[in-house]
Formats: sequence, C-alpha cells, structure tokens
Amino acid sequence: MTDIRRHMEDLRKKLKEYDYHYHVLDQPLIEDVLYDRLLHELTQLEEQYPEYRLEDSPTQRVGGEVIEGFGKVVHQTPMMSLSNAFSEGDLLDFETRVKQVVGDNVSYVCEFKIDGLATSLEYEQGVFIRGATRGDGVTGEDITLNLRTIEVLPQRLTEPKNIVVRGESYLPRAEFIRLNKERALTSEPLFANPRNAAAGSLRQLDTTVTAARRLAFFAYTLVTTAGNASTQLEALEQMKMWGLPINPHYQRCTSMAEVFEYIQHAQEIRETLPYDIDGVVIKVDSFDMQQRLGFTAKSPRFAIAYKFTAQQAESRVKDIELSV
Ligand code: NAD
Repeated sequence: MTDIRRHMEDLRKKLKEYDYHYHVLDQPLIEDVLYDRLLHELTQLEEQYPEYRLEDSPTQRVGGEVIEGFGKVVHQTPMMSLSNAFSEGDLLDFETRVKQVVGDNVSYVCEFKIDGLATSLEYEQGVFIRGATRGDGVTGEDITLNLRTIEVLPQRLTEPKNIVVRGESYLPRAEFIRLNKERALTSEPLFANPRNAAAGSLRQLDTTVTAARRLAFFAYTLVTTAGNASTQLEALEQMKMWGLPINPHYQRCTSMAEVFEYIQHAQEIRETLPYDIDGVVIKVDSFDMQQRLGFTAKSPRFAIAYKFTAQQAESRVKDIELSV
C-alpha cells in the first residue's frame, strides 16, 4: 500500500471516530477547527487521488446516526450537510460553480450559521405533530416530546398548513453558562460548548430534563412550499408570518462583494449576540436555480457555509471557558 493511501485510510478512521463522539455521544474529542482541517485535507486528497476514494468516506456522508431509545423518523426529503468555505477565494470558487449552471444573474440570501442541532418539524393542518433530529440524514430520532418543551416553537401555526420546516435548536449563551455553573457545583462534567449542550439536552429520554434547559429555535428552510414562496427570502418571510421564529439577521445580496460585507458585519457583531454562531450560510435565493444546481451526495450545490477562522473560533472557546 502506498504512503498516500495509508494516510487517507488513517484520516478516514480518525474522522469517523471524531464523528461518532461529536454526533452520537455529544462529546467531541477535538476542536471543530481541527476537525475541519482534517476533513479538508481528506477532501483534497480524494480529489487528487480519486482511485483511493471510498463510498463510505466521511467526505461523502452526513456524520450522525440514530441512538437507541428514540423512535425513528424517515425524512421524506434527506437532511443534508453543507459544504464549507474558509476564505473569500473558496466563496469565489463557489460563485463560479453556481454561475456555470445558472448564468450570471444570481442573488444570494445570507444567514447566520447558528451553532446548534439541525431539527425537522412537521405540521399537519397547522398543528405541530412530529419533530426529529437529522440522524444520518435519511433517518433521524423522534424528539417530538422534547421539542414540545421549547417555548418559542409554535404548537400551532397561524394558518392550517401541511408543512415540513427545518431549523436549528440551540441553547442561548446565558443558559449554557447557567447550566455549566450548576454542573460545576454538583461536580458533573461540563458541556464543551452550547452546541453540544443543546444536542445533549434534546436527546434526553426524560423530557423534564429537556424542559429545564430552556432551549430555543430558529427556522431556516421550508421544505414543502405550501405557500407561494419562490425564493429563500420569501420562504423566510412566509415562515415568519405563520408564527415560526426566524433569525432576524438575514440579508439578500446581489454580488459576492455584498456577501463579503455581510460576513465582515457578522464577525463584528458575533460576540454581542445572545447565541453562538460559527459562520455564515450563503444560499442561492431563487428556488428554480436551487433545483437546477441540485445536490452532491452530502450537501446542496446551491448553498455553502463560510466558517469563521480558526483564530476566532479558538478565542471564542477560551471566552466561554473564562466565563464559566
Ligand atoms: P455544518 O455544521 O458544517 O453545516 C450544516 C449544518 O449547519 C446544518 O445541518 C444545520 O444544522 C446548520 N445550520 C445552522 N444555521 C443554518 C442556516 N441558517 N441555514 C442552513 N443550515 C444551518 O455540517 P454538519 O454536517 O452539521 O457538521 C459538520 C461540522 O461539525 C464539521 O465541519 C465540524 O465543524 C463539526 N464537527 C466537529 C467534530 C469534532 O470532533 N469537533 C466532529 C464532527 C463534526
């Protein structure tokens, strides 16, 4: 076996182990920035040496799986991941790929990348009937009862719609600090970050534990277009009208220069927000263009997550440690 092939196998093995600890146990072994670096290295090697790429590589699959104890929900539309950008250059490459398919006249919607747990909600005749985690993207955990404890999540919409909505369940920063202080007093292990605390809190078989954690929620994807939305911007506004909580910091951008300004602004106000964000998500606005761009095995081609840089992420982790 060549050195390259052996190294790729080693990377795959490590990343799968990190995935399991992060997505299944909610106890990451390493910092996200380090994980992202290793995944990026494997992605590049797979591009360079496609003959050594395996179908079950962490670059090709959504990282989670369903844990025992919960019912299973099969997602009618798969819940995918997002491809990542770490620089303006990566975003310009994304724009080139997009324009090759849909032409030059493209608008984007930028949103904060909320650092929580991807959640799917089903409403029937406007009534919340089921909620699930992403799981492996095809099958998730049924966490309906836990989600009912989230105050901001409407049990009933303002109109009797049959819709599937995706969004992020998260733990506000003040709540994360309060929880960890309580845990320190009772000598329980501290949560590594609000994201892991949120994931651990939602996947509790005892819903009274979830209720005591005061989670929150932002909706960002309308899977079934029961309304008239033909763009992401309209979908966000439609969901808001139905009573779903939408993060207010979304913005339509008509050029990459505007996207870069939005990212700059997000980085500047990040520390003042009452919840954690780990980047910005950039989505092609038009649903028609989204459909033409389609999906890879793991993520949509019409969206990308710009992740804040390592230095910023690391300083954020230190801030939280200091404030506990
Ligand atoms: P991701 O976190 O890079 O991006 C996809 C997720 O972004 C979606 O599933 C959704 O939950 C979320 N999101 C937040 N706001 C959104 C918005 N406005 N619009 C759309 N989506 C939004 O990908 P992932 O597959 O969930 O997780 C992979 C990432 O998790 C890695 O890049 C790494 O940072 C982290 N991870 C860390 C470890 C570790 O050991 N530290 C292990 C595995 C994964």
